[in-house]
Amino acid sequence: MALRIVCTSPAMNALSQTLVRCMSTQGASKNIGFVGLGNMGGHMASNLMKQGHKLHVFDISKQACDNLKAKGATVYEKTSDLAQKSDFVITMLPNNDIVANTYNEMTANGVNKDTIFIDSSTIDPNVVKSIQKMVSSKGARFIDAPVSGGVPGAEQATLTFMVGGTEAEYKAVKAVLECMGKRITHCGDYGMGQAAKICNNMMLGISMIGVSEAMNLAIRLGLNPQTFADIINSSTGRCWASELYNPVPGITATAPANNDYKGGFSTDLITKDLGLASGVATASNTPIPLGGMAHQIYRTLKSKGLGNKDFSVVYDFMKNEKHN
Ligand code: NAD
Repeated sequence: MALRIVCTSPAMNALSQTLVRCMSTQGASKNIGFVGLGNMGGHMASNLMKQGHKLHVFDISKQACDNLKAKGATVYEKTSDLAQKSDFVITMLPNNDIVANTYNEMTANGVNKDTIFIDSSTIDPNVVKSIQKMVSSKGARFIDAPVSGGVPGAEQATLTFMVGGTEAEYKAVKAVLECMGKRITHCGDYGMGQAAKICNNMMLGISMIGVSEAMNLAIRLGLNPQTFADIINSSTGRCWASELYNPVPGITATAPANNDYKGGFSTDLITKDLGLASGVATASNTPIPLGGMAHQIYRTLKSKGLGNKDFSVVYDFMKNEKHN
């Protein structure tokens, strides 16, 4: 049933149009395609369903598809068929090549021009720009919207989305992204969401090493770990890694350091993100001496078999001769 509101004044009329727009985007159930149902994507797709959207899903893992099917999603064998059924398609995939290949396959037989494609994977902003050109040459829209907040944020629908695209595209996707996140920020044109994500994660990788180095030195000098952590967290050294994710066991109850560095944000993923930072820094001739060094340190951890451990394992690596 169409909603019609008749108003006598221009101000009331504008207000009523806004109300109609909100009701049509916020409340209505949309057909949403979701490709990549892993640690992040599985929760994100589930949260969209909880908000009443109809999910069309694909993953190369049968188990991942079965999990979503059990919650009511429709599973597809081809992403091109999934895209034809969807108002929005979200991709949450491991890396540049997989994302680029997925978009080539998904759009090979043409696209529905009203579909908006949203990539939430962490990839190179230049790859974003080339996919955007390819998708728009076929008549549809494509934006980047990478996330921060990790697996807990994906599960609890509290992710931060960093959106790269036009203002109109940002407005068109905001209500859908709000089903999966709390903060949806427009960062600028295509690729700027990824630029924000990569720079944030470069800083995260560096600061975790900084906290580990300082904690290790303080402990070796004879300071009590909790005493020193309390000092940092009420002084100028304070940061997310020291306060909410301290790499020393026994300091932050919920940190992976208390669980043998299992779960959390893997060394593999921070290494991948620092690799992306190194790539864009080289292409833009920007010095990132600490980012480059952090990349080498996490690569060393990977070569020691610590790739699947949380990245705060860098503290354990520094203090512990068993890894050397
Ligand atoms: P994951 O490895 O758990 O999930 C990736 C999923 O993609 C898997 O289910 C895999 O089977 C599927 N897949 C692989 N190739 C495919 C293909 N060709 N077609 C369809 N499906 C395919 O990874 P994740 O932790 O969910 O991360 C996904 C993305 O989100 C990555 O780009 C990552 O950098 C980014 N990210 C992860 C986190 C995190 O904390 N895990 C946080 C922010 C951003």
